[in-house]
Amino acid sequence: MSKKVVIIGGGASGLMAAITAAHEGACVTIIEHKDKVGKKILMTGNGKCNLTNMSDIHGKYYGDDINRIYAILEKFTADDTRAFFQQLGLYTREKRDGGVYPVTEQAASVLDALKTECKHCGVQILTDTEVLDVLPEKEGGVVLIETAIKEMPSVVKAKKGNASKKPSTKMVVVGTKKNKLYYDSLIIAAGGQAAAVSGSDGSGYRLAKKLGHSLIKPLPALVQLKCEGDYFKLIAGVRAQAALSLYVDGELQVKEDGELQLTDYGISGIPVFQFSRIVSRVIYEQQVGLRHAEKDSISVKIDFLPYMSQSDMEELIKTRKCFAHKTVEEFLGGLVHKKLAVLICQMNNWYESICVERLADDELMVCLNQLKNFMVIVTGTNSYDSAQVCCGGIPLAEIEDSMESVKCPHVYFAGEILDCDGICGGYNLQWAWATGRIAGEYAAIGESVKNHV
Ligand SMILES: Cc1cc2nc3c(=O)[nH]c(=O)nc-3n(C[C@H](O)[C@H](O)[C@H](O)COP(=O)(O)OP(=O)(O)OC[C@H]3O[C@@H](n4cnc5c(N)ncnc54)[C@H](O)[C@@H]3O)c2cc1C
Repeated sequence: MSKKVVIIGGGASGLMAAITAAHEGACVTIIEHKDKVGKKILMTGNGKCNLTNMSDIHGKYYGDDINRIYAILEKFTADDTRAFFQQLGLYTREKRDGGVYPVTEQAASVLDALKTECKHCGVQILTDTEVLDVLPEKEGGVVLIETAIKEMPSVVKAKKGNASKKPSTKMVVVGTKKNKLYYDSLIIAAGGQAAAVSGSDGSGYRLAKKLGHSLIKPLPALVQLKCEGDYFKLIAGVRAQAALSLYVDGELQVKEDGELQLTDYGISGIPVFQFSRIVSRVIYEQQVGLRHAEKDSISVKIDFLPYMSQSDMEELIKTRKCFAHKTVEEFLGGLVHKKLAVLICQMNNWYESICVERLADDELMVCLNQLKNFMVIVTGTNSYDSAQVCCGGIPLAEIEDSMESVKCPHVYFAGEILDCDGICGGYNLQWAWATGRIAGEYAAIGESVKNHV
């Protein structure tokens, strides 16, 4: 008899788990509290969906158990993801940085392919249906889930007889107060807490805790940083290729380069996103007293002249005669965005119209150095709503290799709810596909598979 699998969350990992379990012969239901599944998929890659990355995975992921992360990802690789989508009829293309996108360059094509396959293999999707609670039952790892049905789907109007049937200890029970539905396995794929507008509102963490799981504090990652200084209003909107160095308590943490975006409150762009998880964690640890909170302890050095070495700068000043007639703003405007040139003039109390010939060599060197070593003090991150992912989540030590909970048999986890986050570039969706795939496969077996992996 085919096993019955229920999945909380119709995001990337939930849809992958559903299709996999259905391909394995299971009878699958997805419970999704939004009116549609896959809302976050539509937001990915600026609407183009960077669905995986062909580069080496090492150094691209974070979490408390990095070796487990790699081991999981080796079971379902970027090649496997491309092959999976190819089988669904979705062609993909690799870009120069290894990032893979649908050839249509539309995230909607990815979601459509997943939804069509769900339909094709009989996955039942209950939208507008919220899982409010999961309760471990006293005997044998049985779980009761109460769902508040905003629109009563026909499937929940279960036969009255079902309600009185006693579940076997191997069953997961799903039901409203009146009705109960019986499943062999439950997959929690409710996402993290980033971009709640897409449905991931952190409720998955609460459900996991009810099942006895602990939680590594989820914090915003791949997020913008707020910085000190009124001058940000002046330079807001500037985009610049820059090299960034993150310092905590004066110690260099990491360097990133790429397109920096300046906003009226601070800094954004991919190089900032890549190290924002470190900032989130440091601020959290300072707030809860795990780390001494020094004033101005987090700073970023921005090199707005990454293409110039110190000797290039000296050479430039030696040739100053060529641009002696220019204003400082015009001179700097050939090196950086005009708004930055204006800012440097303001920082040095120079009129923007002052000519280069009126400045000494060392004064010119000072302004080049200001652009090369532009220090900003970080005061915080933007909220979960602006973040692309959360770092933290359920520790992988509480998950079997099959993605089954070590705390609660027949319950599996997939996706961002777990303690793993990747850098920008398709790595987070790869985690969702890989974990969804494994969870779906084992949940479809329907028996606790702890010892069979
Ligand atoms: C703007 C943006 C751009 C991004 N771009 C990329 C990119 O290009 N490449 C990349 O790799 N990653 C990207 N990411 C990250 C990536 O989208 C996520 O890591 C991934 O979608 C997580 O998948 P998931 O299935 O774990 O969770 P989600 O996709 O968040 O899905 C969870 C689902 O569970 C549902 N749910 C939650 N709680 C309940 C409940 N109690 N009851 C019922 N349903 C519930 C939610 O409504 C949601 O549909 C981006 C993220 C954002 C926000």
